[in-house]
This record gives sequence, structure tokens and C-alpha cells, in this order.
Amino acid sequence: MPTSGGLGKAVRNSKEIGCAAVQVFTSSPQQWKAKVVTDEMVADLTKAREETGIDCLISHDSYLIHVSAVDDEHRAKSIAGLQGEIERCHRYGIPFVVSHMGGYKDQTVEEGLNRMVESTKHILAQMPPDVTLCMETTAGQGTALNSSASSAAKRPSPQPSPRKSGARERQNTFAPEGAQRCRALASGLKGRAAGRKEHLSENSGG
Ligand SMILES: [Zn+2]
Repeated sequence: MPTSGGLGKAVRNSKEIGCAAVQVFTSSPQQWKAKVVTDEMVADLTKAREETGIDCLISHDSYLIHVSAVDDEHRAKSIAGLQGEIERCHRYGIPFVVSHMGGYKDQTVEEGLNRMVESTKHILAQMPPDVTLCMETTAGQGTALNSSASSAAKRPSPQPSPRKSGARERQNTFAPEGAQRCRALASGLKGRAAGRKEHLSENSGG
């Protein structure tokens, strides 16, 4: 859903076309620079949720983010970018962030997956407890990770992040099949993995 005019407006527009759930960008998906979330922006979204009854919100991270990038600077920028997205969702009260898993350009699939896992562990270790990171499946998209059953099968299992002292129990902090049933099926993934988190399927963006 387009978000020019703010997330509150996007939710109100979504209600008009009959949506029960909305996926948004909290900032431009084509830029590193992100908006600062003000109290007014949060209040408007909260009001829109109350007005419309739409409480199922999901954000999609920037398309520039590539947590498995070979280039250290790009990877560090991506980690910071995804952490910023998660922080904005925490501010807004958006419980899910969908992220692409990056790709394995200029490296092997295993190297790409290992970089993705290391980056993700770093991000999860500092996650606010009320936001869940969902890794999106892809299908037939060149060197994109998780674009085939074989690469998904090689993906290391994510480890639970350490619980911070005083933090409440974190449920589902990492949903590895972040998941689009159609893409999962096109990738050759079947059964339980393909159906899991079906309710998180995207309605906009890539
Ligand atoms: Zn996407």
C-alpha cells in the first residue's frame, strides 16, 4: 500500500478497498536514508488502526538491504538499515518486518548463507521483543538465497537470540519462511514449510 501521506493514511485507504491486513514501507525502499518517526506519526497510525479495526500490519525493509553481501561495508550498512527498520516498527507498533535474504553473488551459496546467518544473529541479539523478523522466500530470482529447494535445504538453522535480562519472553523472533506460499511452491518447497506463515503473504512490493 502506498504510504505517501503517512502510514495512518495508508491504513485508512486500505480499509476503503476492503483490506484486512496491510503491508507498508516505513521509509523509501530505494534509499538508505530513513525518515525519523515522530510521536505525531505514531499517534496517527494508532488512531487509524482504531478507526478501521485493521490491526494486522507488516513492514517490508528497503530493497537496498543485503545482509549476505560479500562487501563488508555494504553488509554493515545493510545490518544497520535492517536494525533501523526494526526500530521504526517498534516505534509504530508494527509486529512483523519482512526482509529479503540477500543473494550469493560473487560467493558460493554456503558462503552467502553463512553471511546471512551471521548478520541475522547479530540483528536478533539486539531485537526489541515485540517485533518479529520474517525472511522472505523468493523464486527463480538469479542468485537470490532461498530461491530454490536446494539452497533452502542448505540454510543453517537460526539460533534463538540470547534473552536480555529483564526482557519479556520473545516468541517467534525469527520466522525463516517469511513466507509467500506461491513463491515457496514455485521454488519447489512443499508441504509444511510452504504453508507455514501463509498469513504473512505480501500484498505489495517485491
Ligand atoms: Zn519482498
